[in-house]
Amino acid sequence: MVDSDVFQTLLMTTLAVLLLLVPIEIRGVEFSLFFVPLLLVRSRLLFKMGAAVAVYLFYHLILGYEWQIYVIFSVLYLVTMTILPFIRVMRTRVMLILNVVFSALLLLGVHLFVHELTIAQTITFLLMSMIVMAVSNMTYEDINSITKLMKRYEEDTYKDHLTQLGNIRSLDTFVDDLNEHAETLSVLLIDIDNFKVINDEHTYLAGDALIKQVAHLLENHVPTGGRLFRNNGEEFSIIIPDISLDKTVRLGEAVRLSVEKAKFHIDDVSQETVQLTVSIGVGFKGSDKTLGRLFKDADDMLHAAKKMGQNQVMFYPVIKK
Ligand code: GH3
Ligand code: MG
Ligand code: MG
Repeated sequence: MVDSDVFQTLLMTTLAVLLLLVPIEIRGVEFSLFFVPLLLVRSRLLFKMGAAVAVYLFYHLILGYEWQIYVIFSVLYLVTMTILPFIRVMRTRVMLILNVVFSALLLLGVHLFVHELTIAQTITFLLMSMIVMAVSNMTYEDINSITKLMKRYEEDTYKDHLTQLGNIRSLDTFVDDLNEHAETLSVLLIDIDNFKVINDEHTYLAGDALIKQVAHLLENHVPTGGRLFRNNGEEFSIIIPDISLDKTVRLGEAVRLSVEKAKFHIDDVSQETVQLTVSIGVGFKGSDKTLGRLFKDADDMLHAAKKMGQNQVMFYPVIKK
């Protein structure tokens, strides 16, 4: 929520109103720095205008300031906000320059159309405005980078960076959610065969490239409503709700066959390819099993597939009473 347009606009509007409440007074002339946070609003034009109107309500109707200065501000604000999208790099320095120019023009407008300002007043107001802008911008940048870091941290908790697939933690959440609504749950536990040998022969980096390509190929087999996860290393799971055991096994067989047929590149530059196979353990759960049992079955079946000589799909057949 913190990095949403609405939140950012509300925050800057509140700051603008707070600055209205504490105007700087020099030799009988009051000057408010309310425009500084408004310049920092980086959302859509509509939000910027909304913020300006909200601040005006406080400015004129509640606090009773002269409307003339707000008209000068509004004209400058409209022009600035129209130009702003064309400035690509919104660094601190650019914002400071923008603020100085904006403040200077605003003060000139006040001087020409509202009341005369002395040089001392103008310089003081300009300096104050620069300080407020520098501090606000630094705070804004800090909040921004903290938000980005938090987002990255959240993603790291649920995402596998190599393949961009969900990790084992997001698998847990997905399965728990499905378990509440789905009548049946199917699991394909997919493990690349002899991957240690592949790594030893072609380097760990090549191994990574292969894992990514296998992930990509597996993704094409995931039916609607299902999802693919990287459990760890060279092991993946496909979780599918509401399909029969028969269909699950056939899907496993299709996955196994398409890996067997594919040629995988060991890196982006060389033409060298390798062939891989996968062993697959199937787990299937109706209303009769626990989730723990579902994954235990799939794991047992994966081990059985390895024992049977790899490149196999294994499952517990349903025994009808
Ligand atoms: P099996 O057919 O029994 O599955 O044999 P395997 O060699 O595939 O299985 P094993 O569990 O003995 O070894 C897994 C290997 O996968 C060893 C490890 O170095 C490699 N591995 C695990 N994670 C990664 C990874 O992220 N990148 C790469 N390149 N290799 C990985
Ligand atoms: Mg393996
Ligand atoms: Mg493994």
